[in-house]
Amino acid sequence: MYIGLDVGGTKITAGLADARGEILQRETSKTAPNVLEQISALIQKFSAGQKIAKIGVGLPGQLKNGVAINMPNVPQLNGVDLLAELNKIYPAEYVIENDANAAALAELKYGAGRNYKNFIYVTISTGVGGGIIIDGHLYTGANGTAGEFGHTVLLPDGPPCNCGNRGCWEALGSGTALAKMAAAAVAENSGTRIKELAKDNRITAEIVVEAAKLEDQIALELLDKNGYYNALGIANLVNTFDPEVIIIGGGVTFNGDYFFQPLFKSLKTFKLLNPEQSIKILRAECGKDTGLLGAVALALP
Ligand SMILES: [Zn+2]
Repeated sequence: MYIGLDVGGTKITAGLADARGEILQRETSKTAPNVLEQISALIQKFSAGQKIAKIGVGLPGQLKNGVAINMPNVPQLNGVDLLAELNKIYPAEYVIENDANAAALAELKYGAGRNYKNFIYVTISTGVGGGIIIDGHLYTGANGTAGEFGHTVLLPDGPPCNCGNRGCWEALGSGTALAKMAAAAVAENSGTRIKELAKDNRITAEIVVEAAKLEDQIALELLDKNGYYNALGIANLVNTFDPEVIIIGGGVTFNGDYFFQPLFKSLKTFKLLNPEQSIKILRAECGKDTGLLGAVALALP
């Protein structure tokens, strides 16, 4: 049997799966201040009476020599030697990965990527991230940080990014970036309905989509711009990796056509060097289960 643990900033989900990847048992709880204790309880519960072959752990950060780093959403684990702590809790074989990389594996085993061996998974939500699947395997790079597309620079001297660079894909194409651009547009244009739709003046990507549904011109332009930057990022990936497909997931994509149509429109304007000069874009299929399925997929044979 296999255990998957999806550790997130708001919740932790654990699942028990058989060798075919079927989830037999699952449990979700709010992320507690003492995450290790919480993980320990979940592993004890799920391993009781079972022979556990491997445990997969998806994290919103990175692992360096077993130590969790870059964990702003679960600061309790930042700097913790996770591999050592987990082995103290329950000695086993652990596969610990960044959650976006795990999500790419979730799509490979369970989702839109199951019929492909070479694809790029891109997640666009509050940030931009992803994972690279080459020959049916996750490619993690020399240090485990491959797939951080969100921090490739699309616009030198563009808006500052949390990573310290300027004009990163994440600072231009994410839901957070869209909301920031919308706030700036509202300050300049009294004609947009974004302002009245925003409760307590809180402008979000969803508010922009709501305004676009009312055919608000500024909102439509903002979504076009957002689509342009996401298309630019994707075109760079297509020319770099020549994947069979690009699979797009993440919170912003739940806005459906309002997200995808501007993206497709812009994507057509870039010169792609593959023979068809186009790329097949698929929507991720794992949805809200992505985290757990990714963690399980890390552990599966
Ligand atoms: Zn960045």
